[in-house]
Order: sequence, then C-alpha cells, then structure tokens
Amino acid sequence: MAWRCTGKTNVELINNMSNHNIISTEIAAAAMGKVDRANFVIRTSEAYEDSPQSIGHGATISAPHMHAFAVERLLPFLHPGARVLDVGSGSGYLTAVLHHLVSPPSGQSQGKVVGIDHIPELVDWSRSNLAKEGLGAALEEGKIEMVVGDGRQGYAADGPYDAIHVGAASPTLPQPLIDQLKAPGKMFIPIGTYSQAVWEIEKDVNGKVKKKEYMGVLYVPLTDAEKQKSGH
Ligand code: SAH
Repeated sequence: MAWRCTGKTNVELINNMSNHNIISTEIAAAAMGKVDRANFVIRTSEAYEDSPQSIGHGATISAPHMHAFAVERLLPFLHPGARVLDVGSGSGYLTAVLHHLVSPPSGQSQGKVVGIDHIPELVDWSRSNLAKEGLGAALEEGKIEMVVGDGRQGYAADGPYDAIHVGAASPTLPQPLIDQLKAPGKMFIPIGTYSQAVWEIEKDVNGKVKKKEYMGVLYVPLTDAEKQKSGH
C-alpha cells in the first residue's frame, strides 16, 4: 500500500518503496535516490509523502509510486546514451530521475532528456528546481532541456526517442508521439478522460506498434493551456 511508503527523508521514502516492492529494481531505486523530491515541491514539509501534491497552475507533481512505476516500465529503454522525452514535465522531478539513468557520470555516451510543458511558469520553475538539485550544469550542457510547448505534438527537433513518458492523461493516443518513438522504443502514457488507464506503447525494430493496458489511474489532463488554467 502506497501510503505506508511515506518517509521522513528522501532516503527513507525510497527505502520504504523498495521494501514494499513499489520499486523492484536497484537501478530505479538508485536513480530516484539521487533526486531530492523536496527540491520539486511547494509544500516541502510533505515532500517525502507518497502522494501527489499541487504545484499550482492546475498541475500536480505525481506520487512517488507512480513515478517509480513509470520509470520501471521504461527501464529497458533508459540505457546510457538514450534520448528521452518527458511530456508534461511539470516540476521537473521525473526529468531529473530520467537524466541520471541516461547520462551516468562515468558514461561514455551521454544521453539527453527533453522535458516539455505548456505552462511557461512551470517550465521556468522546473529549471530553477533542477538548478537547486545541482543539475544546472546538465541544463547548460544540453543533457537536459526544458521547453515550453504543446506536448501533444511531441518535440520532433530532438527525436526520435528511445523512451517517451507522458505525465498527463490524453483522451486519445497522440500520433506525433508514436511517430517520434524510435524503432525500437517505448512510451508510457495515461489515456482517458473520466476513466483513465496507463498504457504501454512499444515499437519494435521493424516499426510495428504494440499496445498494452495497465491499471486505472488519475492524472491531470493533457489538454489546452487555457482549459487547464480555467480548471475545465
Ligand atoms: N511529471 C510531472 C507531472 C505534472 S502534472 C511531475 O510529476 O511534476 C501534468 C503536467 O502536464 C502539468 O504540468 C501540465 O501543465 C502538463 N500538460 C498538460 N497538458 C499539456 C500539453 N498539452 N502539453 C504540455 N504539457 C501539458
């Protein structure tokens, strides 16, 4: 049960998630352990709770167990040197975790993570969160890039991507995101409106696309910026 994983520190939160099998791989635990969630939230006293938290502008930072689940679904494609797109990057927390997986310090081939969000204030805030986290150099070197844009269109300039994470629920599967997946490549995306489920979209080496549905979830909608700001 997710709530049991809440910790007093970041280390405790990650350890609790590992002990309850919410995180089942050491590599994901290590990457999440490197990122202090307190640098990516507004209410820092609740930073290590295993629950989502409002980050303003109609957005939330996802719960740690959802971030862990997403990372582990994408893990086979998050090798050093991989290119990753994080759609609806919000706080920048997951972008930071993904960065550690694809650009390890000793790695020969450096990967790249692009975070895209349509709320300019959130993109600015995520950049300052990443700097607080000690990832200012990664931003300057272009290993992490945070852009303002409509994530439903993806970000073709840096594609194709080994892995695409979508952190907001889309009514349908956006074709540009499928097009920007490498062959092979994998996408994690919540799909639905009132009723949502996480889907895993995998493109094989021949470009054939397979879709698999996971559990029901509740994400912020992948929508128009105006609709999000007005709460509809
Ligand atoms: N992974 C982020 C999730 C933030 S909530 C985190 O844990 O911090 C979902 C995000 O999707 C919000 O920041 C919202 O602004 C963004 N979003 C919604 N619709 C979007 C769109 N069409 N294009 C880009 N970002 C979008």
